Amino acid sequence: MIIDKNPWPFLILKHLIYLAVAVGIGAFFGLEQLAAIIVLSIILIILFSRMYILDRWLRTSRMTSPPEAPGIWGDILDQIHNLRQRDKKRAHNLSRIVKRFESSALALPDGVVGIDAEGEMEWWNETAALLLGLKRKQDKGQRIDNLIRNPEFVQFYRQTNHEKPIHIPSPVNNEIIMEIRVVDYGLKEQIIIVRDISDAIRTQQMRKDFVANVSHELRTPLTVLNGTTELLYDSAHALPEQMGKPIELMNQQTKRMTSIVNDLLTLSRLETESSEAHFEDIKMKGFIETLQKEAKALSGDSKHEIICEIDAELHFKGNLHEITSCFTNLVSNAIRHTPKNGKIIIRWYKKEGDKCFEVQDNGFGIAPEHIPRLTERFYRVDAGRSRDTGGTGLGLSIVKRILIRHNATLEIESIEGAGSTFRCRFKNQ
Ligand code: ADP
Repeated sequence: MIIDKNPWPFLILKHLIYLAVAVGIGAFFGLEQLAAIIVLSIILIILFSRMYILDRWLRTSRMTSPPEAPGIWGDILDQIHNLRQRDKKRAHNLSRIVKRFESSALALPDGVVGIDAEGEMEWWNETAALLLGLKRKQDKGQRIDNLIRNPEFVQFYRQTNHEKPIHIPSPVNNEIIMEIRVVDYGLKEQIIIVRDISDAIRTQQMRKDFVANVSHELRTPLTVLNGTTELLYDSAHALPEQMGKPIELMNQQTKRMTSIVNDLLTLSRLETESSEAHFEDIKMKGFIETLQKEAKALSGDSKHEIICEIDAELHFKGNLHEITSCFTNLVSNAIRHTPKNGKIIIRWYKKEGDKCFEVQDNGFGIAPEHIPRLTERFYRVDAGRSRDTGGTGLGLSIVKRILIRHNATLEIESIEGAGSTFRCRFKNQ
């Protein structure tokens, strides 16, 4: 029943009238105080008995209809009953949503673990249990970094930035490689997504091995071919005139193929070997001045103006062999992609706390849509220019890999037709 007008004034007035009548009658007999006490006691007894009925109903019969009661008490009981019905419906809906969410999480092919705001594991699905070795009863309420003790995971989990996933072996079977992603949401809740990526890693490894093996196998026949074409080239004067051009082409293309194979081998070495063991102090001033000399030799008749701006106080530690390859690639790119008499500046300086090696040219430049793809293998903006200038299309892939091994990033700024700047930014140096 819905109460649409306020019953309280009438109720109070009614009880005041009872009291007044009783006191009036009592006064007639000279017993007004006794009459007032009797009336108030009756009101109290009625009040307590109603409260007793209400209490019993609330305690014993959760969802049955409320007991019959006259007046305001009936209204109160009806209201409580309505509220409880609504509450029950809401709880039912909520549990349906939770069940649906749980069953969809259970059906996911990836492992999912729900972490509450206290950092404790609340729920997980079967895949997560299999990959992480979780036991339903025992591990509920535990912290995940107490269960998975892999140091890489512990460090990753405890840091605040969870943008990139990590790859670690499963604690159950270390032949299974898992990708773990942490998704932060709500106040401090998290969802951890675990995927078995062993197959993808195996395929990737097979691809790397295949490229490395093919490159390696091609080296010996190429060396023989190189020797032969060079011999033919050197003795071209003794051969019929029409052989001159084909021999020159053969010589050129064999050299090109050798460069590609060498670059592919360099790349696969960079992907497999560790580099830190060979880190050493590099005297940057002398190092860059040598680069400048080599660049001038490479530029030759193109007569580029090559300038150095070096902060000689800025020391650097890295793998000399790799850093030489990285910086040489950038300088040679600047020369090959800048027209005759162009200007190239090589810089070594500090920027926002990071040490930077930079090559700036005023060459052909690159349209913005190409920039994000330049470090992909064999990606070339102008394949003709790249080939004509002896490029393999692998230079920037090598640069990127070397920089990753030095905890550095490659920044590329370019305006088509105006020139480019390639910057290696070394952090924590
Ligand atoms: P390539 O051997 O073709 O130079 P890289 O991987 O070194 O291969 O470079 C990829 C592509 O990036 C090049 O083909 C070229 O289109 C572009 N590029 C690299 N450096 C420069 C530069 N300094 N100016 C203009 N374009 C460049």
